[in-house]
Amino acid sequence: MPALAQEDAARYLRRHRLLFGDQLWLSGPSPLPPSARAASPPEQTQAGPLEAFRTEIKDCQNCPLGATRTKFVFGVGNPAADLVFVGEAPGAEEDRIGEPFVGRAGKLLDKMLAAIGLSRQDVYILNVLKCRPPGNRDPLPAEVSECEPYLQEQLRLLEPKLIVTLGRVAAQTLLREQASLKEMRSRTYEYAGIEVRTTYHPAALLRNPNWKAPAWEDFQKIRDRYRELTGQPPVA
Ligand code: SF4
Repeated sequence: MPALAQEDAARYLRRHRLLFGDQLWLSGPSPLPPSARAASPPEQTQAGPLEAFRTEIKDCQNCPLGATRTKFVFGVGNPAADLVFVGEAPGAEEDRIGEPFVGRAGKLLDKMLAAIGLSRQDVYILNVLKCRPPGNRDPLPAEVSECEPYLQEQLRLLEPKLIVTLGRVAAQTLLREQASLKEMRSRTYEYAGIEVRTTYHPAALLRNPNWKAPAWEDFQKIRDRYRELTGQPPVA
């Protein structure tokens, strides 16, 4: 088998494992005798590694935010996504519901995804911090250093081809960068070996509609790069 095909096959199997766990179901005649088939479980019950990791860390108290959170916010979306969005930390609604990017900002993100032909089911959305900083203050360096290994493990399991940070704080935190968001938006970065682009946080677009036009430019570039990285033809 050529090296590229082997790589694709390995990637497919890793993704299948993320979605369905360790058991691999193949189409076609079963290689098992009828007695063994009858003993097989009727359906897949094992959780994938991403869900197993969520279960492992969901009660974390490694930093003081564990004591003040309402809900732990792991992330949401497709575990086989090639495109991952990263925000800074849960806000009040996310803390209440336990899911990132809900409420008005989340709805706007959904619309922006739809505008580039995607939905939440096509991507994965998470935050640098899994618990809400009180009063929505910026994450503290100590909180980031405690929580960031979780993000790194999530990305290792997800294996996306492209990461997009949402908002200045997420970009500066993830990329250890002090430049303005305007400067960062024009650059391409790398995090854990994965290409990173930056754009506005949807909540910032709600506060300042003048940023919607440059955000749309960013999303078109994100769409084009995503399609390029995933071998899809460019949008005409
Ligand atoms: S923010 Fe991260 S490190 Fe702190 S308690 Fe929550 S999960 Fe643990």
